[in-house]
Amino acid sequence: MWVVRRSRTWVMVAAAIGCGVPGTVVLAQEISEKPAWCRQLPRPEYARIERIPVADSWFEVYKVAPSVFAIYEPHQSEETISYLILGNKRALLFDTGMGIGDLKALTQRLSHLPVIVLNSHTHDDHVGDNWQFETVYGMDTKFTRKSAIGSTEDAQAEIVPGEVCGALPPGFDAARYSTRPWKISKWLHDGDWIDLGGRTMEVIATPGHTPDAICLFDRANGLLFTGDTYYPGTIWLYRPETDLTAYGRSVRRIAALQPKVKIVLGSHDVPVAPPAVLGELAAAFAKVQAGDVRSMPAGPGKVIYRVGDISFLMRPRGGGKSGKDGAEQ
Ligand SMILES: [Zn+2]
Repeated sequence: MWVVRRSRTWVMVAAAIGCGVPGTVVLAQEISEKPAWCRQLPRPEYARIERIPVADSWFEVYKVAPSVFAIYEPHQSEETISYLILGNKRALLFDTGMGIGDLKALTQRLSHLPVIVLNSHTHDDHVGDNWQFETVYGMDTKFTRKSAIGSTEDAQAEIVPGEVCGALPPGFDAARYSTRPWKISKWLHDGDWIDLGGRTMEVIATPGHTPDAICLFDRANGLLFTGDTYYPGTIWLYRPETDLTAYGRSVRRIAALQPKVKIVLGSHDVPVAPPAVLGELAAAFAKVQAGDVRSMPAGPGKVIYRVGDISFLMRPRGGGKSGKDGAEQ
């Protein structure tokens, strides 16, 4: 069921009210004009972040650190966040969002530097505008190669009723919306560095959510961009390409960086979190893996595990290994 699969916030609402019956939430949404996730916006955290005015109505831009812009898409339920990170010579665009708005036009208004695209991972909601850019780096994985072929199904599921809040951009052709294929100009590996001129970004492979998931570390400035390995919402760990053992290793690895991190920047919902979330994330996931956390139902083939402020959307225990049960595609 797409609505439950796609709406992070609905899952959270279902869990928060303890009903465990997503149908109740869906019914509530069907009889109101705005989807439930959208009625909760704007998220209060944004009031404390400097907003950069832009003419584009699809994106919101926030300055989250010196020469770092968060590019937020609040009108689609993923609430995806991409980042434009500026050096002296080059800019790095960490993800390209849904591919619904014109991200290239927006980035050109924010900076005239040549842009390197690198994805936190290659799920459709992070690579949507990759095709617009000439220079796209990719992790050297099979999963990345397959994603770069593009797809229509995942993209179309992002715009079914209930997933979009407010108007789509003028000229957007819903019937033809797809994740367009893109070309990878350079393959990257764990430990590679990208020199932006006066700013160096370190690639940390953090497989788990997907095989090609990475974190990007600006060590000099203490900025850790965590993609979907961590963001301040329910973290999705149920898809066939998710590897829980690898995820556990990855969150332990980034937790070890905590003393060197000043801001954690995730790829959904809210762009800034304190470094303490890294340790909390690793501890929470260790508890889940040890079987010490009770699950709450969250729709067909899915459960939520919640430890403090950290939560994971997963398959029920004993529900089979990756790729067998609960996968919807
Ligand atoms: Zn993802």
